[in-house]
Amino acid sequence: MGHPVAHSRSPMIHGHWLKRLGIRGAYELKDLTPEQFPDFVTQLDANGYVGGNVTVPHKEAAYRLVKRRDAAAEAVGAVNTLWLANGMLCGGNSDTHGFIANLDDRAPGWDVPGCRAVVLGAGGAGRSAVYALSTRGAQVELVNRTLARAEELAARFGSRVRAHGFDAVPRLLREADLLVNCTSLGLAGKPPLEVDLGPLKPGAVVYDVVYVPLETGLLAAARKRGHRTVDGLGMLLQQAGFGFRKWFGGEPKVTPELRKMLEADIVAKTPK
Ligand code: NAP
Repeated sequence: MGHPVAHSRSPMIHGHWLKRLGIRGAYELKDLTPEQFPDFVTQLDANGYVGGNVTVPHKEAAYRLVKRRDAAAEAVGAVNTLWLANGMLCGGNSDTHGFIANLDDRAPGWDVPGCRAVVLGAGGAGRSAVYALSTRGAQVELVNRTLARAEELAARFGSRVRAHGFDAVPRLLREADLLVNCTSLGLAGKPPLEVDLGPLKPGAVVYDVVYVPLETGLLAAARKRGHRTVDGLGMLLQQAGFGFRKWFGGEPKVTPELRKMLEADIVAKTPK
C-alpha cells in the first residue's frame, strides 16, 4: 500500500518465496490515496487480506491506525508492516529487522565489545538504524545535515545516542567500528556522499542502506581501502522476510538466486 507504489520490488521478492515454499498466496500492490488508506487498512480482513506493507506516504497514518505496535515501530514512530492477530490490526517496522539481519549476515562480528557506530542521516532509515544499533549495545554517533533533527532523535535514546553535524565526521571516524550511510546521498540521481574515509580504522565496517546503484561511491571507496562492506539490497531483502513470516509462515531465505534476480532488475532499470 502506497501512493505511488508501482515502482515497488516487493511483489518480486514475495512472489519468489511463495513459489519456492509452495504456499498458495499472493502479494499485490494497492495504490491508495491518503483519503482511501484508512478505510482500506481497517477492513483488510473483510477484503480477504492477512496483512501487508505500507510505504510512502502512509507510514505515519498506519502508526496511528493500528491497535497494537511492536517495540521497533513504537521507537521509530512509523509502521511499515501490518498483520492481523486474532482479528486485531497490528503494526511493526521491518526496516529495523532488515537493517540488523543484513549486518549480521554480511559482517558477522561487527558488534565488537564497546562498538562505536557513526550513522549519517536522521530520516526514516536513520531512525531504524539508530534503534537497531542501540538495542544491540552500540554507542551511536548520529550525524545529520539538520542538526535539530538528529538532536530530537538522540534525545529519545539517552546517552547511547549523541547528535552531531557533518563537521564532526573526521573526528568521529577515528573511533568508529562501523560507518553507516542512511542519507539519500549517493542514490542514483542524487548528489554523491562526500566523506573522506582516511581517518577510519582498517577493521571498520562500512554499510550503505542505499541500494541503487548496487555499489555506491561510498562502498566502492571502502572496498578499495580494504574495509568489509555491506550493501542496502540485503537490507531490502531481509526486511521483506519479517512480513512474510507473519503473513504466510515458512522460512523465507535470502538466497544468491533471489539476490541475483533483484540485482538484474536494478541494473536494468538504473540509468548508466
Ligand atoms: P528521508 O526520511 O527523506 O531522510 C533523508 C536523509 O538524507 C535525511 O537525514 C536528510 O537530512 C539527508 N539528506 C538529504 N539530502 C541531503 C544533502 N544534500 N546533504 C546532507 N544530507 C542530506 O529518507 P529515508 O527514508 O531515510 O531514506 C534514505 C535512503 O535510504 C534512501 O536512499 C532510501 O532509498 C534508502 N533506504 C533503503 C532501505 C533498504 O531497505 N535498503 C530502506 C529505507 C530507506 P536532513 O534531515 O537534513 O534533510
